[in-house]
Amino acid sequence: MSTSTRFPVAPLREWVRRTDVHAAARLSLLVEVLRVLDGEEASSLLGRGELADRLERWRYQWLNQQSTRLTAEDRRSLDCLDRMANELSGRGGRPPRRTRQLVRDDGLAGPEIAEAWRHLDPARPLAPLVERARALTIERFGEPAARDPRPASGRRMLLYAPLYLSSHCINFCTYCGFRYPRQLRRRHLSFAEAQGEANVLLRRGFRHILLVGGEFPRLTTAEYYAQVIEWLTRQAVAPAVEIAPQSTRHYARLAEAGACCVTLYQETYDETLYAEYHPKGSKASYDWRFEGLDRAADAGIGRLGLGILLGLADPVEDTRAMMQHAAYLQARHPDRTIAFSLPRIHDAPQGFRAPYRIDDELFVRLYCVLRLGFPDAELVLSTRENAVLRNRLADICITQMSAGSCTAPGGYEDRKDGGSGEQFPVSDHRTAGEMAAWLTTRGYRVAWRIGAR
Ligand code: SF4
Repeated sequence: MSTSTRFPVAPLREWVRRTDVHAAARLSLLVEVLRVLDGEEASSLLGRGELADRLERWRYQWLNQQSTRLTAEDRRSLDCLDRMANELSGRGGRPPRRTRQLVRDDGLAGPEIAEAWRHLDPARPLAPLVERARALTIERFGEPAARDPRPASGRRMLLYAPLYLSSHCINFCTYCGFRYPRQLRRRHLSFAEAQGEANVLLRRGFRHILLVGGEFPRLTTAEYYAQVIEWLTRQAVAPAVEIAPQSTRHYARLAEAGACCVTLYQETYDETLYAEYHPKGSKASYDWRFEGLDRAADAGIGRLGLGILLGLADPVEDTRAMMQHAAYLQARHPDRTIAFSLPRIHDAPQGFRAPYRIDDELFVRLYCVLRLGFPDAELVLSTRENAVLRNRLADICITQMSAGSCTAPGGYEDRKDGGSGEQFPVSDHRTAGEMAAWLTTRGYRVAWRIGAR
């Protein structure tokens, strides 16, 4: 079947001519794409990937400029670009991305999620919700054969550590310590320095390491991360990344290097507030970020980490939207693991005040609701929170915790930094060993690498 039968090529060309200031370049790209798709021109896998990448960039350029004003014709044309890119990448048949529409549509939420949402109402008692979340977590993450009388009943807790690679960033996120052009001692680790930091974490026992970096295209390239990931993989580490959104092609490079997980927080799903918090830089592009996890899954990444930054917007609405987003990803990629994290703003750079206050009871409620809606999801808790609250939440529903963290590049080897250059201050200062000891006493199976349940 020719491409003109499978894709509405004539209307697409007409749309380009009428609406695109770069029409000539777009049309010549289309000619190239159609020749390859029709088999008139042989193309290597690399060549097909390059063409798919160019279609993807074209689609996002359009979305960045027009996403809130799309006509039905725009949508059809953008869907066509999406489907062509999928076919070039060997994913023909995958329906086009409709993330925005589908995430807004409650119809995606199954009965478990709909039931969980009812508990977002603060008038409902918290104690029974906590008990259900606790029981579900033991059921899904415990060892059914081993009945352990201790609080954790022998269930698994995965420990991980963040490894900050770079604090250089071109984005203006108003709430972040790394935002541009804030004055701080910025640092970008060389490959050797990254190895030094990782070696500290390896000596502490970590085999799951989260690579974190600001967005600085000249320095934090996909190839830079891939090099660090490849080395970590050779040390039997399961590396995850929490970095700027990447193209499908670059995510594929990270997956090939050994990245097992991509964490990409939307921060807030409220588009008006999102625009206020991200006034400039590439992070201002809502769609590029919003569809990042979908691209990561298409590229072969096995674990998808979602999150909202609590304090930025209505936490209940944001939690609902994030769960919708997860339901969308789960429907599209049923074999991937979903993970959630709820970072909460405690300290922000001078001049920023979080407009929403989230107290501990609401914080606990939100995590419990996530457990009810997604019983098998990893629930992740960082050292932003203090030890007392972390202990409480661990005993309820958390399955993955960081420990002994430093949020400044080079901070593990260079403790005399005294905290300068950190993205945010750490509240739980227990070492990895102290954390592991506490967990063991409570009856957890401490896991240092990803995989075990
Ligand atoms: S939140 Fe991320 S993208 Fe934004 S300024 Fe901080 S490091 Fe950069």
